[in-house]
Amino acid sequence: METPKNPLSINCRIREGLARLAMAMRVDEWNKAKASGLNPTQLAILALLEGRGQHEFGVKDIAAHLGVSQPTATDSINALERKGYLAKTPGQLDRRAVRLALTPEGIANLHAVETSDGLARQAVDALDADEQQDLLLALVKMIRHLQETDAIPVQRMCVTCRYFAPFAHSDSAQPHHCNFVDASFGQRELRIDCRDHDQADPASRAATWEAFQPG
Ligand code: SF4
Repeated sequence: METPKNPLSINCRIREGLARLAMAMRVDEWNKAKASGLNPTQLAILALLEGRGQHEFGVKDIAAHLGVSQPTATDSINALERKGYLAKTPGQLDRRAVRLALTPEGIANLHAVETSDGLARQAVDALDADEQQDLLLALVKMIRHLQETDAIPVQRMCVTCRYFAPFAHSDSAQPHHCNFVDASFGQRELRIDCRDHDQADPASRAATWEAFQPG
């Protein structure tokens, strides 16, 4: 049992903290889903598909990204199709696969709930600017670790993108460069889920991460 003289490890207490935040985020997800007439998994599928129109994205990808079983993903996809929020077309690379894309009605529903406030947003707003940046960098590092150990799919983050050139500029406020839009940007602008992301090969990702490390 934890006492002041015998605390749990910091690893354990950080995970306890993340679990409390995850609880608040689940409340947000249920509230948003209720407002959209969907359940949280269905709403998460709409959010995942947004901005992926040009890529092949099927049931297996949805299940892997949301951490749910393929039957659960299939049920939710079928429900969204019945509601007119997504459309299935045959895959262009593999005709046996289905490609999923949001309909205009699906996009409108998603945007209608995205503007709403939530507990998690309030918690992030409670941090000052430096604390927010430190947290963003810590999250990037943790997410990258999970994807590089194949625990989760590669996310659309700058640090895994072929367009990302870390510390390409001497300006400490805008040290990074995005070759997709040919513009510099700062640590605070690092993306977690960028629709223009194009995944770099593993060797390039490793080299980018090395260059991204402080010092
Ligand atoms: S395209 Fe997006 S993910 Fe890639 S470097 Fe630019 S901002 Fe980052």
